Amino acid sequence: MTFQNTRDYARQLDAQDALAKYRDEFLFPKVNGKQVIYFTGNSLGLQPKRTKAFVDEVMDDWANLAVEGHFYAEKPWWDYHERFAAPLGKIVGAKPSEVTVMNTLTVNLHLLMVSFYKPGGKRYKILCEAKAFPSDQYMLQSQVRFHGYDPKDAIVELERREGEHNIRLEDILAKIDEVGDELALVLIGGVNYYTGQVFDIKTITAAGHKAGALVGWDLAHAAGNIKLELHDWNVDFAAWCSYKYMNSGPGNASGCFIHEKHHADKTLNRFAGWWGHNKARRFKMEPDFDPVEGADGWQVSNLPILSLAPYLASVEMFAEVGMDALIEKRDRITSYLEFILHEIGNEVSSSFEIITPSDPFQRASQLSVFLHGEGRPLFDYLMKNGVITDWREPNVIRLAPVPLYCSFEDMYDFGQILKQGIVSQ
Ligand SMILES: *Cc1c(COP(=O)(O)O)cnc(C)c1O
Repeated sequence: MTFQNTRDYARQLDAQDALAKYRDEFLFPKVNGKQVIYFTGNSLGLQPKRTKAFVDEVMDDWANLAVEGHFYAEKPWWDYHERFAAPLGKIVGAKPSEVTVMNTLTVNLHLLMVSFYKPGGKRYKILCEAKAFPSDQYMLQSQVRFHGYDPKDAIVELERREGEHNIRLEDILAKIDEVGDELALVLIGGVNYYTGQVFDIKTITAAGHKAGALVGWDLAHAAGNIKLELHDWNVDFAAWCSYKYMNSGPGNASGCFIHEKHHADKTLNRFAGWWGHNKARRFKMEPDFDPVEGADGWQVSNLPILSLAPYLASVEMFAEVGMDALIEKRDRITSYLEFILHEIGNEVSSSFEIITPSDPFQRASQLSVFLHGEGRPLFDYLMKNGVITDWREPNVIRLAPVPLYCSFEDMYDFGQILKQGIVSQ
């Protein structure tokens, strides 16, 4: 496809966009009285207008029913989380029984490690990507220490080759082979938060299994962004947060996937709580834990309904839109942004560089741009002029043209502001 760097052309793309109407469903901050160009939906998604009604409903039920809300609320609280199973299952490619919502992301990774990191004898090593999101690094180190190992020995990192920004699949597969029968667990971020690289979850999962390891994924930047088939890909477990691409609000609840093949395994360790107990007998207050069969059996506490309400609003919007339509627009608008960046780079002969893979199969809704020359002042210029992006050391801005609410005209406008910013430095 040949794009054009003009406002008319961008408007034409918006006119052809089947998802364009969703832009109006979101609340945008303003800078200088003007709606911003929002590129940080990979960090905190915008608030959908429909969300408030979901929260108000819980507030009203609480006011009117108090404790009776557990059973008689508009959406009763005691099994509120079950409303997520079907639509969220579709978003991540899982059976309803394989997904649940609870806690927050890092907490859930810890809980899942209790079940799925089972070091013993020769087999105790964990493979993860170098420069993983810090919370994942701290989580893994503390888990490894908890089991009595030294992180330097037990955590094997997948490195980028000298001079390259992304990790090659062939290098991942070779490393899995190399660690071989010492490998207990592979745990990687499905989409790298820094570069936006999308990993081949299916192939890596199969390779990990072949080596005799279990394979889990942190899908913080993947849920609601890429096509996932967690069940068919035979992923053992996964977790994600809901406040990035899934627009559920700051610090909000996490989703978990636990493959069906593990549901009946009573030998798995788990840190239990009453909300994971046999649903029919939960309120009999019995002394012995009898887990619900399915991902809900990993529940611990009764759920924070006020946090789940915005997440449910979001999941329903995703169910309406469907991942296929979302991905079609995602690829188009990301390619258009890439085109605009190249155009502006040529016009002002700037030395910035896109470090996200150009292969559409290895990227999703994010382009990370290394600002070789311009650096921090350019970032500040963008922010002051209504382009909300983020800065990652040493010199990278991340741009996520989120398909639900970014427009092609935004991409054009961004290009013009970027050009001004570079010229005025
Ligand atoms: C955003 C993100 C987190 C954040 O974890 P919380 O527990 O929700 O604070 C963790 N890991 C990755 C890979 C992330 O991108």
